[in-house]
Amino acid sequence: IIEIKDLSKSFGDHEVLRSISFGVNKGDVISILGSSGSGKSTLLRCVNRLEHQSSGQIFYHGNEIKDSQKEVNEYRSKVGMVFQSFNLFNNMTVLENCMAGTRKVLHLPKEEARERAITHLKKVGMAPYINALPAHLSGGQKQRVAIARGLCMNPEVLLFDEPTSALDPEMVGEVLGVMQELAQSGLTMLIVTHEMGFARDVSSRIIFMDQGYIAEDTTPAEFFTNPKNPRSREFLSRYI
Ligand code: ATP
Ligand code: MG
Repeated sequence: IIEIKDLSKSFGDHEVLRSISFGVNKGDVISILGSSGSGKSTLLRCVNRLEHQSSGQIFYHGNEIKDSQKEVNEYRSKVGMVFQSFNLFNNMTVLENCMAGTRKVLHLPKEEARERAITHLKKVGMAPYINALPAHLSGGQKQRVAIARGLCMNPEVLLFDEPTSALDPEMVGEVLGVMQELAQSGLTMLIVTHEMGFARDVSSRIIFMDQGYIAEDTTPAEFFTNPKNPRSREFLSRYI
């Protein structure tokens, strides 16, 4: 679906991404791991066009993605993103949050947008809260709404940047549970996470980043039992 070729990104003279290349195929659930500052968020932001690369290319179904606003909006409806900080519209109800994108970008009729929103809110267990404002929800509930909102666009790929890092520990499980169900349903996902159990048990592939490079791109079984790269070993030792 997505092909990333020789992607590099610098902020000033700080090279944050260095010659990143990999492909995302249908049904892949890829966990992107790496220590703080290794470039994980920058990589996702480039894939979602929130950031422009310094060099290299990103292809979506073989076509290089363009940066006109119209094309970016269309692309983002196919490659959605869920943020650490939820990014819900605070002045809109849960239902309105989930209808905004499908109304504005996909131009769905109101009734259809509403039905679709309710379908996905049910999926994440948030149907009882459709009329609530985000301020009245817990962090875990907000993140489940954000995931439902992403699903409403019928994305081909959903990107997650540390979706559970801002949550109180007791709420991490409910969000990871929803993500596990999505993975099992065949949704293609690219997930930056520090949840090693989730990465090991749910993902089909691990990309380990170190100082802007992909240091390892392998299966979870291989990464967690037999990491090839010394930096991977050092990284993993911090979690045991
Ligand atoms: P974390 O695990 O802490 O979220 P990360 O792997 O997501 O880390 P990035 O946020 O991609 O790392 O940042 C990589 C590097 O790029 C860091 O050194 C960061 O300071 C730098 N950086 C990121 N965004 C900017 C920016 N807008 N301007 C300048 N430097 C930036
Ligand atoms: Mg980050």
